[in-house]
Amino acid sequence: MNILLIGSGGREHALAWKLAQSPSCTKLYAAPGNPGIAEDAECVTLDVADHGAVAEFCTNKDIALVVVGPEAPLVDGLGDSLRAAGIAVFGPNAKPAQLEGSKGFTKDLCERAGIPTAGYVRTTSLDEATQALERFEAPHVLKADGLAAGKGVVIAETREDAQAALADMFGGQFGEAGAEVVIEEFMAGEEASFFALTDGTAIVPIGTAQDHKRIGDGDVGPNTGGMGAYSPAPILTDDLQARVMAEIIEPTVTTLREEGMPYSGVLYAGLMLTETGPKLIEYNARFGDPECQVLMMRLQEDLAELMLACAEGRLGEFSDAKMAPETALTVVMAAKGYPGTPEKGGSIDLGQAQANGAKVFHAGTKRDANGTLVANGGRVLNVTATGPNVSEAQRAAYQAVDAIDFPTGFCRRDIGWREIKRERK
Ligand code: ATP
Repeated sequence: MNILLIGSGGREHALAWKLAQSPSCTKLYAAPGNPGIAEDAECVTLDVADHGAVAEFCTNKDIALVVVGPEAPLVDGLGDSLRAAGIAVFGPNAKPAQLEGSKGFTKDLCERAGIPTAGYVRTTSLDEATQALERFEAPHVLKADGLAAGKGVVIAETREDAQAALADMFGGQFGEAGAEVVIEEFMAGEEASFFALTDGTAIVPIGTAQDHKRIGDGDVGPNTGGMGAYSPAPILTDDLQARVMAEIIEPTVTTLREEGMPYSGVLYAGLMLTETGPKLIEYNARFGDPECQVLMMRLQEDLAELMLACAEGRLGEFSDAKMAPETALTVVMAAKGYPGTPEKGGSIDLGQAQANGAKVFHAGTKRDANGTLVANGGRVLNVTATGPNVSEAQRAAYQAVDAIDFPTGFCRRDIGWREIKRERK
């Protein structure tokens, strides 16, 4: 089958790499793709906001499956438009994509379905929000309702800080996304991610991971899109995974289906492992970036077949998704300045980084006029390796990092530290 992949980041490079290995994939297109994706797919220019143009491309190129990488086109209804045109899509329609697109939507769903999560109040004015602060003790958790590229969440240590943040949010800091603000109870614990494929009825888990949101070693400094990840996350034991399925994933899929908005695609649950068990922090309607990179390194299935089965409501044909038992770990190399303004144009030479089985996924890269690979964004490369445990996977990943010549780049040197500390005990 011919497949069209939408997106241009490291997540999409990992998906392209895995799709290109699928025996069932005849021809892979990517819009817009990047220089790494270009090694696995034919990159094309398409305005994904123009749903008619995407559907026309699919007809012309005999596309049997569209895989949507990022959340914005899903929340924008690209899935609905393509399905209406009779094209199979991996990724939910706009309504169920509200799981990611609206934090208030997800909290209400959790309440209706009895899913464990933090207590919350939805507010639409500064007055309401100020009152709601009194409901919960510090630290105060404040969230712009809509998509804010991972920047719409404030954890304020004091009432004064919370009040100031609320004034900014209702003052238009996040535009429309901040017209509503959700105030939440603070949950203490360690975070982990759980991924499951679903066609709206059948559910197939596709791995666990832990990421590293902060820019600096030791988890300090500002938040980023993610500086590294590993999979599996041993802290999510088999028992805990069974609880996540029974208490969180299954009621979500069932409730959405029963309410007439079946969810098809990947459900990415951000979890807090609290003293009383796993609780949902948030849902995403797509794979995590860089979590996708480590999941794809471990997946031992024909990804195209799995995704088509999701899109066509046949996921029940798969009893599970086989994952290699080894650990995969990815280190994000970013351009200096990130998460502020990154320095673009710095040259990159991958050298022998991939000589020992490591894989370098491209995120923000491009080729300049001379064909030289250069940095073209904040997060630039995802250097990914595997090993029998996190310590070994980390060693292999940094060996590959050190083989790369990228003078304007940097990375964290401690990806996997939590688990490595546990492995050493
Ligand atoms: P992402 O970048 O993961 O998409 P987001 O902006 O969609 O983030 P959340 O995942 O809801 O927002 O929150 C971001 C981070 O804030 C979480 O990873 C977690 O560390 C922290 N957080 C969110 N809600 C809570 C809570 N109720 N209690 C404690 N920490 C929280």
